[in-house]
Amino acid sequence: MAAQVLDGAAVARQIRSELAERVRSFEKNAGRRPCLRIVLVGDKADSEIYVRSKLKSASDEGIDASLTQLAAQSSIEKVLDLVRTLNADPTVDGILVQSPLPSSLGDGAMLRVFDTIDPAKDVDGFTPVNVGRLVQNRAALVPCTPAGIVQLLDRSRIEIAGRHAVVIGRSDIVGKPIAMLLLHRHATVTICHSRTPDLAATAARADILVSAIGRAGFVRKNFVKAGAVVIDVGINRVTDAAVASALLGEGSLRHESFLKKGSAVVGDVHPEVSAIAGALTPVPGGVGPLTIAMLMHNTLVAAEQRQRR
Ligand code: NDP
Repeated sequence: MAAQVLDGAAVARQIRSELAERVRSFEKNAGRRPCLRIVLVGDKADSEIYVRSKLKSASDEGIDASLTQLAAQSSIEKVLDLVRTLNADPTVDGILVQSPLPSSLGDGAMLRVFDTIDPAKDVDGFTPVNVGRLVQNRAALVPCTPAGIVQLLDRSRIEIAGRHAVVIGRSDIVGKPIAMLLLHRHATVTICHSRTPDLAATAARADILVSAIGRAGFVRKNFVKAGAVVIDVGINRVTDAAVASALLGEGSLRHESFLKKGSAVVGDVHPEVSAIAGALTPVPGGVGPLTIAMLMHNTLVAAEQRQRR
C-alpha cells in the first residue's frame, strides 16, 4: 500500500489562515501591521524566487514586507550596515537576510550577519542568542523549516514522544534544530551525516526519518522501516534526463513537465520509499510551504513581543 501523503501545502494554508486573523487583531491593537524586511545580496535566480514567494505570502497575510536588494559585489560591511540600520528602525519587526550570500563575501559572512541581527527581530531563528534559547527549550523564534515540520507532525496527529527519530543532515538551519525540537518533544534522536557509517541501517531504525541533505533520490527503500514517517526536506533541481525519468517516472505529468522545461525539483527521498513508508511528505508541496508559513508566524510573534515591551 502506498504511504499516506502528508499534505504540507494544506497544513500551511491552515496555519496561514489562523495567522491572518491574528495579524488583523495585532493591527487593530497596535495601529500598524507587522513589518518584515528582507535583504537579498546579488541576483541568484533561486534566491529571487524564494524571496518573491515570501513577499507574496506576507502580503496575503496582511504583513507589511519589502525587499532591499544589494549588488552581488557589495562588501560585507555594507550588508552589516544595512542590518544595523534595520535593527535600529523601530518600525521593523523582522529581518531576514536571504542565504546563501555571494561567495565573494567570504566563508564566515552569514555567521557575521547572524551575529549582527537583533535577536528580537531574528525571524529565521539563526542568531546565537536564539540558537541558545532553542537548545534550552525556551525559544520564541524557532528556525522556520524545523518548526514547520513539527507543526506538520502535530497537525497530522503523529506521535513524537517516545519514538526514535533519525535526522540525516546536521546543518544549522535544518538538521540540528529539527533534532533539538524532536528531542524536546521526547523523541530519542539520532543525527547522521556524511561520515556516518552504515547510514541505511541507522536510518532504517527510525520511526520518524527526516532527510535534509540535498541529494536527489538518496534515501532508498532499504533506509526505511516499514510504516515509518518520512519527512523529505530536500529541494534538488534535476536536469539530467536519466535521473529525471528514474525519479519522476516516464509518462507521469511531472516527467512531461520536465521534458518541456528541462528541469524539475525533487526531494532527497526516492519514490520507491512510498511502498514501504507509513506516511511521506511530497516534494514539492511538503515541507517547503510550511517553511514560508512559519516565517509569517515568526514575523507576527516578533511584532507581538516588541509591541508588549
Ligand atoms: P547543507 O548543505 O547545509 O547540509 C547538508 C547536510 O547533509 C550536511 O550535514 C551533510 O553532512 C549531509 N550530507 C550531505 N551528503 C550526505 C550523504 N551522502 N550522506 C549523509 N549525509 C550527507 O544543507 P541544508 O541543511 O541547508 O539543506 C538540506 C536540503 O534541504 C537541501 O536540499 C536544501 O535545499 C533543503 N532545504 C529545504 C527547505 C525547505 O523549506 N523545504 C529549507 C532549507 C533547506 P556533513 O555535515 O557531514 O557535510
